[in-house]
Amino acid sequence: MIPSAIQIIQVFSPMKPQPELSVIVPLYNEEENVGRLYEAIEAALERLGESYEIIFVDDGSSDATFHRARELAQRHDRLRLIKFRRNYGQTPAMAAGIDYASGRILVTMDGDLQNDPGDIGRLISKIREGYDIVVGWRYNRQDKLITRKIPSRIANWLIGKVTGVPIKDNGCSLKAYRAELIKHIPLYSEMHRFIPAMTSVAGPRIAELKVMHHPRRFGNSKYGLSRIYKVLLDLLAVKTIISFSTRPLVWFGTIGLLPAAIATVLFGAVIEDVISGHDDYLAVKMGTGLVFMSGAAFMFMCGVLGELIHRTGNLKPSYQLAGRPAEMNLSENSSRRGTEGE
Ligand code: UDP
Ligand code: MG
Repeated sequence: MIPSAIQIIQVFSPMKPQPELSVIVPLYNEEENVGRLYEAIEAALERLGESYEIIFVDDGSSDATFHRARELAQRHDRLRLIKFRRNYGQTPAMAAGIDYASGRILVTMDGDLQNDPGDIGRLISKIREGYDIVVGWRYNRQDKLITRKIPSRIANWLIGKVTGVPIKDNGCSLKAYRAELIKHIPLYSEMHRFIPAMTSVAGPRIAELKVMHHPRRFGNSKYGLSRIYKVLLDLLAVKTIISFSTRPLVWFGTIGLLPAAIATVLFGAVIEDVISGHDDYLAVKMGTGLVFMSGAAFMFMCGVLGELIHRTGNLKPSYQLAGRPAEMNLSENSSRRGTEGE
Protein backbone atom coordinates (compact mmCIF):
# COMPACT_ATOMS: atom_id res chain seq x y z
CA MET A 1 0.00 0.00 0.00
CA ILE A 2 1.51 3.32 -1.01
CA PRO A 3 1.06 6.00 1.67
CA SER A 4 -1.07 8.85 0.34
CA ALA A 5 1.72 11.41 0.85
CA ILE A 6 3.73 9.75 -1.90
CA GLN A 7 3.41 11.30 -5.31
CA ILE A 8 3.85 9.33 -8.44
CA ILE A 9 4.52 11.40 -11.52
CA GLN A 10 4.02 8.90 -14.25
CA VAL A 11 2.97 5.34 -14.76
CA PHE A 12 3.83 3.93 -18.18
CA SER A 13 1.71 0.92 -18.37
CA PRO A 14 0.43 -0.82 -21.48
CA MET A 15 -2.84 -2.70 -20.85
CA LYS A 16 -2.23 -6.44 -20.99
CA PRO A 17 -4.00 -9.61 -19.93
CA GLN A 18 -3.07 -10.74 -16.41
CA PRO A 19 0.44 -12.22 -16.49
CA GLU A 20 1.48 -15.09 -14.27
CA LEU A 21 4.47 -13.22 -12.93
CA SER A 22 5.36 -9.62 -12.02
CA VAL A 23 8.98 -8.78 -11.23
CA ILE A 24 9.25 -5.53 -9.26
CA VAL A 25 12.49 -3.57 -9.02
CA PRO A 26 13.04 -0.30 -7.13
CA LEU A 27 15.72 1.87 -8.70
CA TYR A 28 17.48 4.82 -7.18
CA ASN A 29 20.43 6.17 -9.12
CA GLU A 30 21.20 2.92 -10.88
CA GLU A 31 21.94 4.35 -14.35
CA GLU A 32 24.73 1.92 -15.05
CA ASN A 33 22.75 -1.07 -13.87
CA VAL A 34 19.34 -0.50 -15.40
CA GLY A 35 20.06 -1.72 -18.94
CA ARG A 36 22.06 -4.76 -17.87
CA LEU A 37 19.44 -5.55 -15.28
CA TYR A 38 16.60 -5.50 -17.79
CA GLU A 39 18.49 -7.82 -20.10
CA ALA A 40 19.33 -10.23 -17.27
CA ILE A 41 15.74 -10.36 -16.01
CA GLU A 42 14.29 -10.73 -19.50
CA ALA A 43 16.70 -13.55 -20.36
CA ALA A 44 15.88 -15.40 -17.14
CA LEU A 45 12.12 -15.02 -17.59
CA GLU A 46 12.18 -16.03 -21.26
CA ARG A 47 13.93 -19.24 -20.20
CA LEU A 48 11.10 -19.93 -17.78
CA GLY A 49 8.46 -19.63 -20.50
CA GLU A 50 5.98 -17.89 -18.17
CA SER A 51 3.83 -14.88 -19.03
CA TYR A 52 5.35 -11.94 -17.20
CA GLU A 53 5.67 -8.21 -16.72
CA ILE A 54 8.62 -6.31 -15.28
CA ILE A 55 7.92 -3.21 -13.21
CA PHE A 56 10.71 -0.70 -12.69
CA VAL A 57 9.99 1.91 -10.03
CA ASP A 58 12.21 4.94 -10.33
CA ASP A 59 12.50 6.28 -6.80
CA GLY A 60 13.24 9.90 -7.76
CA SER A 61 16.69 9.21 -9.22
CA SER A 62 18.84 12.25 -9.96
CA ASP A 63 20.93 10.50 -12.62
CA ALA A 64 19.91 9.02 -15.97
CA THR A 65 18.13 5.98 -14.50
CA PHE A 66 14.66 7.14 -15.48
CA HIS A 67 15.61 8.17 -19.01
CA ARG A 68 17.31 4.85 -19.63
CA ALA A 69 14.38 2.95 -18.16
CA ARG A 70 11.95 4.91 -20.35
CA GLU A 71 13.92 4.08 -23.47
CA LEU A 72 13.74 0.43 -22.50
CA ALA A 73 9.99 0.67 -21.82
CA GLN A 74 9.45 2.19 -25.26
CA ARG A 75 11.11 -0.80 -26.85
CA HIS A 76 9.77 -3.57 -24.61
CA ASP A 77 6.07 -3.62 -23.86
CA ARG A 78 6.47 -6.06 -20.99
CA LEU A 79 8.30 -3.38 -19.06
CA ARG A 80 6.10 -1.04 -17.03
CA LEU A 81 7.57 2.02 -15.43
CA ILE A 82 6.55 4.03 -12.40
CA LYS A 83 8.23 7.29 -11.50
CA PHE A 84 8.18 8.94 -8.08
CA ARG A 85 8.25 12.70 -7.76
CA ARG A 86 11.20 12.49 -5.38
CA ASN A 87 13.23 9.92 -3.48
CA TYR A 88 10.89 8.22 -1.01
CA GLY A 89 12.88 5.10 -0.25
CA GLN A 90 13.10 1.46 -1.18
CA THR A 91 10.00 0.34 0.73
CA PRO A 92 7.56 2.84 -0.85
CA ALA A 93 9.07 1.98 -4.24
CA MET A 94 8.44 -1.72 -3.62
CA ALA A 95 4.95 -0.90 -2.31
CA ALA A 96 4.09 1.07 -5.46
CA GLY A 97 5.30 -1.79 -7.65
CA ILE A 98 3.22 -4.25 -5.63
CA ASP A 99 0.13 -2.04 -5.91
CA TYR A 100 0.43 -1.67 -9.67
CA ALA A 101 1.48 -5.25 -10.37
CA SER A 102 -1.09 -7.44 -12.06
CA GLY A 103 0.65 -10.82 -11.88
CA ARG A 104 -0.55 -13.75 -9.78
CA ILE A 105 2.92 -14.24 -8.33
CA LEU A 106 5.01 -11.17 -7.48
CA VAL A 107 8.80 -11.18 -7.20
CA THR A 108 10.80 -8.30 -5.74
CA MET A 109 14.52 -7.82 -6.22
CA ASP A 110 17.23 -5.17 -6.05
CA GLY A 111 18.14 -3.13 -9.10
CA ASP A 112 21.91 -3.25 -8.66
CA LEU A 113 22.52 -6.76 -10.03
CA GLN A 114 23.40 -8.08 -6.57
CA ASN A 115 20.41 -10.45 -6.73
CA ASP A 116 20.44 -12.97 -9.55
CA PRO A 117 17.35 -13.20 -11.80
CA GLY A 118 18.39 -16.81 -12.47
CA ASP A 119 16.96 -17.66 -9.03
CA ILE A 120 13.42 -16.48 -9.89
CA GLY A 121 12.39 -19.84 -11.35
CA ARG A 122 13.16 -21.70 -8.11
CA LEU A 123 11.29 -19.12 -6.07
CA ILE A 124 8.11 -19.42 -8.11
CA SER A 125 8.25 -23.24 -8.11
CA LYS A 126 8.27 -23.01 -4.32
CA ILE A 127 5.21 -20.73 -4.37
CA ARG A 128 3.46 -23.29 -6.55
CA GLU A 129 4.25 -25.95 -3.96
CA GLY A 130 1.77 -24.05 -1.77
CA TYR A 131 3.87 -21.41 0.01
CA ASP A 132 2.62 -17.82 0.24
CA ILE A 133 6.04 -16.20 0.56
CA VAL A 134 9.44 -17.47 -0.47
CA VAL A 135 12.33 -15.55 1.05
CA GLY A 136 15.81 -15.52 -0.45
CA TRP A 137 18.78 -16.25 1.79
CA ARG A 138 22.08 -14.74 0.61
CA TYR A 139 24.10 -17.56 2.16
CA ASN A 140 27.26 -16.35 0.43
CA ARG A 141 26.69 -12.65 0.84
CA GLN A 142 29.06 -10.37 -1.06
CA ASP A 143 29.07 -7.33 1.23
CA LYS A 144 31.49 -5.92 3.80
CA LEU A 145 31.89 -8.01 6.96
CA ILE A 146 32.05 -5.44 9.75
CA THR A 147 29.57 -2.84 8.51
CA ARG A 148 27.10 -5.13 6.76
CA LYS A 149 27.27 -8.84 7.49
CA ILE A 150 27.78 -8.74 11.26
CA PRO A 151 25.09 -6.09 11.98
CA SER A 152 22.77 -8.00 9.66
CA ARG A 153 23.32 -11.26 11.57
CA ILE A 154 22.53 -9.58 14.86
CA ALA A 155 19.47 -7.86 13.34
CA ASN A 156 18.15 -11.14 11.90
CA TRP A 157 18.53 -12.84 15.26
CA LEU A 158 16.80 -9.96 17.05
CA ILE A 159 13.98 -9.72 14.49
CA GLY A 160 13.34 -13.45 14.88
CA LYS A 161 13.23 -13.19 18.68
CA VAL A 162 11.03 -10.09 18.80
CA THR A 163 8.58 -10.93 16.02
CA GLY A 164 8.51 -14.69 16.48
CA VAL A 165 9.18 -15.13 12.74
CA PRO A 166 12.73 -16.48 12.45
CA ILE A 167 14.15 -15.70 9.00
CA LYS A 168 17.84 -16.11 8.22
CA ASP A 169 18.08 -13.11 5.92
CA ASN A 170 15.34 -10.51 6.29
CA GLY A 171 17.33 -7.95 4.30
CA CYS A 172 17.37 -10.00 1.09
CA SER A 173 15.07 -8.22 -1.38
CA LEU A 174 14.75 -11.26 -3.61
CA LYS A 175 11.44 -12.70 -2.50
CA ALA A 176 8.35 -14.14 -4.16
CA TYR A 177 4.80 -13.70 -2.92
CA ARG A 178 1.33 -14.85 -3.76
CA ALA A 179 -0.15 -11.54 -4.98
CA GLU A 180 -3.38 -11.64 -2.98
CA LEU A 181 -1.41 -11.92 0.26
CA ILE A 182 1.22 -9.22 -0.22
CA LYS A 183 -1.20 -6.68 -1.70
CA HIS A 184 -2.97 -6.50 1.67
CA ILE A 185 0.13 -5.85 3.76
CA PRO A 186 0.74 -2.19 4.68
CA LEU A 187 4.36 -1.31 3.85
CA TYR A 188 5.89 2.01 4.86
CA SER A 189 9.04 3.46 6.43
CA GLU A 190 11.71 0.81 5.76
CA MET A 191 9.41 -2.13 6.34
CA HIS A 192 10.64 -4.10 3.36
CA ARG A 193 13.08 -5.71 5.78
CA PHE A 194 10.19 -7.00 7.84
CA ILE A 195 7.84 -8.33 5.21
CA PRO A 196 7.68 -11.92 6.56
CA ALA A 197 6.94 -10.60 10.07
CA MET A 198 4.42 -8.05 8.78
CA THR A 199 2.55 -10.77 6.90
CA SER A 200 2.47 -13.03 9.96
CA VAL A 201 -0.89 -11.50 10.93
CA ALA A 202 -2.31 -13.23 7.86
CA GLY A 203 -0.83 -16.64 8.82
CA PRO A 204 1.30 -17.20 5.72
CA ARG A 205 3.25 -20.31 4.78
CA ILE A 206 6.83 -19.06 4.46
CA ALA A 207 9.75 -20.88 2.82
CA GLU A 208 13.40 -19.87 2.61
CA LEU A 209 15.66 -20.63 -0.32
CA LYS A 210 19.39 -20.12 -0.73
CA VAL A 211 20.00 -17.56 -3.48
CA MET A 212 23.05 -16.18 -5.26
CA HIS A 213 24.51 -12.83 -4.28
CA HIS A 214 26.97 -10.81 -6.32
CA PRO A 215 29.13 -7.86 -5.32
CA ARG A 216 27.89 -4.47 -6.48
CA ARG A 217 29.79 -3.62 -9.68
CA PHE A 218 28.25 -0.26 -10.60
CA GLY A 219 26.97 2.61 -8.46
CA ASN A 220 26.98 2.78 -4.68
CA SER A 221 25.02 1.31 -1.82
CA LYS A 222 22.33 3.74 -0.69
CA TYR A 223 22.62 2.90 2.97
CA GLY A 224 25.10 3.70 5.72
CA LEU A 225 25.31 2.71 9.36
CA SER A 226 22.22 4.82 10.19
CA ARG A 227 20.18 1.88 8.97
CA ILE A 228 20.93 0.05 12.25
CA TYR A 229 19.05 2.67 14.25
CA LYS A 230 16.18 2.75 11.75
CA VAL A 231 15.90 -1.03 11.79
CA LEU A 232 15.59 -0.98 15.59
CA LEU A 233 12.81 1.61 15.49
CA ASP A 234 11.00 -0.20 12.69
CA LEU A 235 11.30 -3.40 14.69
CA LEU A 236 9.42 -1.71 17.51
CA ALA A 237 6.75 -0.51 15.09
CA VAL A 238 6.41 -3.96 13.51
CA LYS A 239 6.13 -5.62 16.90
CA THR A 240 3.35 -3.21 17.87
CA ILE A 241 1.52 -3.77 14.60
CA ILE A 242 1.68 -7.55 14.57
CA SER A 243 0.96 -8.02 18.26
CA PHE A 244 -1.65 -5.42 19.00
CA SER A 245 -3.18 -4.08 15.81
CA THR A 246 -6.16 -6.42 15.98
CA ARG A 247 -6.89 -5.76 19.68
CA PRO A 248 -5.66 -2.35 20.82
CA LEU A 249 -8.14 -2.07 23.67
CA VAL A 250 -6.91 -5.32 25.19
CA TRP A 251 -3.31 -4.17 24.94
CA PHE A 252 -3.78 -0.65 26.33
CA GLY A 253 -6.27 -1.99 28.88
CA THR A 254 -3.63 -4.45 30.11
CA ILE A 255 -1.04 -1.69 30.47
CA GLY A 256 -3.64 0.40 32.33
CA LEU A 257 -4.23 -2.39 34.87
CA LEU A 258 -1.13 -1.58 36.94
CA PRO A 259 -1.89 2.13 37.55
CA ALA A 260 -5.55 1.21 38.15
CA ALA A 261 -4.48 -1.33 40.81
CA ILE A 262 -2.15 1.19 42.51
CA ALA A 263 -4.92 3.83 42.50
CA THR A 264 -7.37 1.32 44.02
CA VAL A 265 -4.94 0.50 46.87
CA LEU A 266 -4.38 4.22 47.53
CA PHE A 267 -8.10 5.03 47.51
CA GLY A 268 -8.69 2.03 49.80
CA ALA A 269 -6.12 3.47 52.23
CA VAL A 270 -7.86 6.87 52.08
CA ILE A 271 -11.25 5.29 52.85
CA GLU A 272 -9.70 3.33 55.71
CA ASP A 273 -8.15 6.53 57.10
CA VAL A 274 -11.46 8.34 56.87
CA ILE A 275 -13.35 5.52 58.60
CA SER A 276 -10.75 5.08 61.35
CA GLY A 277 -10.44 8.84 61.80
CA HIS A 278 -6.65 8.92 61.06
CA ASP A 279 -5.15 11.52 58.82
CA ASP A 280 -1.84 9.96 57.64
CA TYR A 281 -0.86 11.89 54.53
CA LEU A 282 -4.47 11.81 53.37
CA ALA A 283 -4.01 14.48 50.69
CA VAL A 284 -0.83 12.84 49.38
CA LYS A 285 -2.54 9.44 49.07
CA MET A 286 -5.60 11.03 47.47
CA GLY A 287 -3.49 13.06 45.00
CA THR A 288 -1.24 10.14 44.06
CA GLY A 289 -4.30 7.90 43.66
CA LEU A 290 -5.85 10.44 41.30
CA VAL A 291 -2.66 10.63 39.23
CA PHE A 292 -2.55 6.84 38.84
CA MET A 293 -6.28 6.67 38.11
CA SER A 294 -5.85 9.33 35.40
CA GLY A 295 -3.01 7.25 33.94
CA ALA A 296 -5.25 4.19 33.82
CA ALA A 297 -8.09 6.19 32.27
CA PHE A 298 -5.66 7.61 29.70
CA MET A 299 -4.54 4.11 28.72
CA PHE A 300 -8.15 2.99 28.44
CA MET A 301 -9.01 5.95 26.21
CA CYS A 302 -5.96 5.24 24.04
CA GLY A 303 -7.28 1.70 23.66
CA VAL A 304 -10.72 2.97 22.64
CA LEU A 305 -9.12 5.34 20.10
CA GLY A 306 -6.95 2.48 18.85
CA GLU A 307 -10.05 0.33 18.35
CA LEU A 308 -11.74 3.14 16.43
CA ILE A 309 -8.72 3.66 14.20
CA HIS A 310 -8.42 -0.05 13.65
CA ARG A 311 -12.09 -0.47 12.74
CA THR A 312 -12.20 2.52 10.43
CA GLY A 313 -8.57 2.70 9.27
CA ASN A 314 -6.87 1.02 6.33
CA LEU A 315 -5.39 -1.98 8.11
CA LYS A 316 -8.36 -4.07 7.05
CA PRO A 317 -8.97 -6.85 6.43
CA SER A 318 -7.60 -8.41 9.61
CA TYR A 319 -8.11 -11.86 8.14
CA GLN A 320 -7.54 -13.38 4.76
CA LEU A 321 -9.49 -16.07 2.99
CA ALA A 322 -7.53 -19.10 1.91
CA GLY A 323 -9.01 -18.77 -1.58
CA ARG A 324 -11.53 -16.70 -3.47
CA PRO A 325 -15.02 -17.27 -2.00
CA ALA A 326 -16.24 -18.78 -5.26
CA GLU A 327 -13.47 -21.38 -5.09
CA MET A 328 -14.28 -22.52 -1.58
CA ASN A 329 -16.64 -25.36 -1.18
CA LEU A 330 -18.75 -24.51 1.82
CA SER A 331 -21.22 -27.37 1.48
CA GLU A 332 -20.88 -29.73 4.43
CA ASN A 333 -21.99 -32.80 2.49
CA SER A 334 -19.45 -32.62 -0.26
CA SER A 335 -15.80 -33.43 0.31
CA ARG A 336 -13.51 -30.45 1.03
CA ARG A 337 -11.72 -29.01 -1.92
CA GLY A 338 -8.27 -27.54 -1.59
CA THR A 339 -8.34 -23.94 -0.39
CA GLU A 340 -4.66 -23.36 -0.91
CA GLY A 341 -5.25 -20.04 -2.59
CA GLU A 342 -5.62 -21.40 -6.08
N1 UDP B 1 16.78 1.91 -3.50
C1 UDP B 1 15.66 2.70 -3.75
N2 UDP B 1 15.49 3.82 -3.01
C2 UDP B 1 16.34 4.17 -2.01
C3 UDP B 1 17.44 3.34 -1.73
C4 UDP B 1 17.63 2.21 -2.49
O1 UDP B 1 14.88 2.39 -4.66
O2 UDP B 1 16.11 5.22 -1.38
C5 UDP B 1 16.99 0.70 -4.32
C6 UDP B 1 18.37 0.63 -4.97
O3 UDP B 1 18.40 1.33 -6.19
C7 UDP B 1 18.54 -0.87 -5.12
C8 UDP B 1 17.84 -1.43 -3.91
O4 UDP B 1 16.94 -0.42 -3.47
O5 UDP B 1 17.90 -1.33 -6.28
C9 UDP B 1 18.80 -1.81 -2.79
O6 UDP B 1 19.63 -0.71 -2.48
P1 UDP B 1 21.18 -0.87 -2.17
O7 UDP B 1 21.82 -1.75 -3.18
O8 UDP B 1 21.76 0.48 -2.00
O9 UDP B 1 21.13 -1.62 -0.77
P2 UDP B 1 22.20 -2.66 -0.21
O10 UDP B 1 22.34 -3.76 -1.23
O11 UDP B 1 23.44 -1.88 -0.03
O12 UDP B 1 21.58 -3.14 1.07
MG1 MG C 1 22.72 -3.62 -3.17
